[in-house]
Amino acid sequence: MKTLIVALGGNALIKSGERGTPEQMINNLRAPIKQIAELSNEYNIVITHGNGPQVGALLLQQEASDEITKMPLQILVAETQGQIGFLIESTLDEELMHLGIDLDKYFLTVLTYVEVDRNDRAFKHPTKPIGPVYKRKQPGYVKTAKGWRRVVPSPKPIRIVQSREIKKLIQENFIVISCGGGGVPVIQEGNRFQGVEAVIDKDLASAKLGEQVNADILIIATDVEKVALNYGRIDYKYLDRVSTADAKEYMKQGHFPPGSMGPKIQAVINFLESGGEQAIITSIEKIKDALDEKAGTHFYISES
Ligand code: ADP
Ligand code: MG
Repeated sequence: MKTLIVALGGNALIKSGERGTPEQMINNLRAPIKQIAELSNEYNIVITHGNGPQVGALLLQQEASDEITKMPLQILVAETQGQIGFLIESTLDEELMHLGIDLDKYFLTVLTYVEVDRNDRAFKHPTKPIGPVYKRKQPGYVKTAKGWRRVVPSPKPIRIVQSREIKKLIQENFIVISCGGGGVPVIQEGNRFQGVEAVIDKDLASAKLGEQVNADILIIATDVEKVALNYGRIDYKYLDRVSTADAKEYMKQGHFPPGSMGPKIQAVINFLESGGEQAIITSIEKIKDALDEKAGTHFYISES
């Protein structure tokens, strides 16, 4: 069976305007997880996910009182892997049960560390928006496309530390949930790993995981069905098939902003250039249609 990585966006859990209650998150996960359950008969599947809203909320929660000991960002990222992993697992369990394949199919959330470079320039230039969006200026916050948000460093993923374990689980027919929130960022110090305060981009981490476990297909599932040129303008144009060479050219022309579509396009390019067979960007509702070539933007490798 081919190995498929499905990267779920933060909006797979919290849609715009929602407060992110557990009921809302489970409700939003239903559509992608139902499709994943159905696909698990045909593919080995690894689910990865973002954590921007959730990790920002944890940061605010612990700042709400001086009575609680404040945890560094890497520990909060680890917490979101457990929190969101739990929500995905329980939804998956129900959907597999509906299909009657719950007895043949196992799943497991893997606490995942991702190695980064201590000298990555992202540590000096925080760019990753997390937590709630404010309409008015907040101290220490930065103005983003959506409004005022906290931004944190987002270094590039160098290596998924648990890739061997994840590979073993895939071979054993497990649906694996891993690299949550882009992974817990660590740097290697001699024989041990040291956590660092950052949030890694989940799309780039998913591409790196794909390279390390030799995945065949990467699907990035977000809240738009296709990638567009001139996105948000009246002369926008949806893309069905894009070569990596054209993707790089469009990137240079500024069609894919850094905080949103940019890392997805970069992830797709990285995945295909490191040996991946197929890469697709589509909406969380159209995962199956996209695999049947009936939806999404499909990318292919080109000499350049
Ligand atoms: P996720 O939580 O899935 O990572 P993001 O908000 O980071 O989602 O990225 C998806 C968003 O990218 C879309 O909602 C859309 O508003 C925005 N976007 C920016 N440029 C483009 C583009 N060229 N084509 C399609 N969507 C784009
Ligand atoms: Mg994103």
